Amino acid sequence: MSKISVIILIAFLMETTNGQESYKAQRELMVNTQLIARDIHDVSTLNAMRRVKRHEFVPEVMKAHAYEDRPLAIGNKQTISQPYIVAYMTQELKLKPDYRVLEIGTGSGYQAAVLATIVDSVYTIEIVEPLGITARKLLKQLGYKNIEVRLGDGYHGWPDKAPFDAIIVTAGVKEIPPDLLDQLAEGGRMIIPVGQNLFHRNLILATKKNGEIKTQKLIGVAFVPFTRKK
Ligand code: SAH
Repeated sequence: MSKISVIILIAFLMETTNGQESYKAQRELMVNTQLIARDIHDVSTLNAMRRVKRHEFVPEVMKAHAYEDRPLAIGNKQTISQPYIVAYMTQELKLKPDYRVLEIGTGSGYQAAVLATIVDSVYTIEIVEPLGITARKLLKQLGYKNIEVRLGDGYHGWPDKAPFDAIIVTAGVKEIPPDLLDQLAEGGRMIIPVGQNLFHRNLILATKKNGEIKTQKLIGVAFVPFTRKK
């Protein structure tokens, strides 16, 4: 190897290690200023947010912005939620390590990765095929072995893997899809953005106790719409 190429190689390696270090520092800052400073206190949620490399889930041009306090475009008119919303929804699910979780709206795969860091298994469905295919490939490449990505309309859930201890829907619905409530396990929790307007939806928590569903309004949120396959 020539002298010059050795120098280039060293510069490249330094750049990449510094890059990873700086992403780690950015994640720590995100956890402290955006999550702990607000109302995120669940230890497993905070640890998952520290561990999952959010920058891997956004397009190249967005990497520098990956840890900012906002949602980001991921292509196909979809977005990856603001870190605070991801953490808030995760925390409200009150996850346990042995849980089986269903997510509707894989998008980039980031939320699925956060869930999979905490629970036993994650089943996630994405309606936009290119997004689902990219997320599946990325999650495999990053070493997540407990996530299954399915392509298609998640309106009817994933009956053959039900019941789920927790269900998270990351696209805004007009009404809660009944099949998802059916697939919620006894004692289970579901979080779903409900409302007519893109920028004003309510995050709803649905719980099942003795077979009965109770719903509760949590916070106001903006979410891309839940769409249906024709
Ligand atoms: N959880 C994602 C963000 C999701 S954005 C992340 O962490 O990146 C919402 C996603 O829901 C979009 O990718 C959208 O295509 C998907 N979606 C909308 N309607 C859907 C449906 N009926 N079934 C499955 N996915 C759906």
